[in-house]
Amino acid sequence: GGAAEPPPRLVLDLERLSAVPSEKAGPLQRYAATIQSQRGDYNGKVLSIRQDDLRTLAVIYDQPASLLVDQLINWGVLDPDARRAVREDDS
Ligand code: C2E
Ligand code: C2E
Ligand code: C2E
Repeated sequence: GGAAEPPPRLVLDLERLSAVPSEKAGPLQRYAATIQSQRGDYNGKVLSIRQDDLRTLAVIYDQPASLLVDQLINWGVLDPDARRAVREDDS
């Protein structure tokens, strides 16, 4: 390691997210809807979220953040570059 690269932006694709069955994506769908509501940001096709929110979501999903990111990438909700957000400080 050692490179001072900024962490990747975590940009949720809201159209893809809404297409994932809610039995799987329900908690994330509610989390994203809450952030949109708090920001008053209702019209976006995408939503940038905080790095910290990924940690919170990993707790909600009871999974390591790295596995959650893999799942979101498989759903098409996150860009594959988002893996860098968890590779650097996975725990
Ligand atoms: P807050 O955390 O007290 O942030 C107040 C305002 O500071 C935000 O108003 C926004 O204008 C600005 N701000 C704070 N952090 C950032 C940032 O990383 N990037 C940018 N561009 N601006 C930032 P806003 O957007 O109306 O949000 C209101 C409140 O909603 C926030 O209060 C926070 O409690 C919650 N919120 C909004 N978006 C998020 C999010 O992505 N994650 C979490 N955990 N909370 C959020
Ligand atoms: P970017 O971060 O690559 O975002 C590209 C476009 O994706 C944005 O164009 C916007 O249409 C959409 N987008 C990204 N995140 C969100 C989101 O959380 N909500 C919504 N509704 N749309 C989102 P836009 O708005 O014309 O911004 C162009 C560029 O301006 C952004 O490129 C970024 O480089 C900068 N920018 C805009 N807002 C912020 C901000 O709050 N913080 C920072 N640091 N840069 C910003
Ligand atoms: P961004 O606006 O380009 O902010 C990049 C990073 O700068 C944030 O990463 C955070 O570490 C720091 N930062 C920016 N504004 C503030 C601030 O007001 N307070 C603090 N404590 N730190 C700030 P982070 O947290 O991972 O957020 C990633 C992106 O998610 C932000 O990019 C922005 O697009 C979005 N975002 C996060 N929180 C908010 C929010 O409260 N409101 C809005 N509108 N967007 C947010």
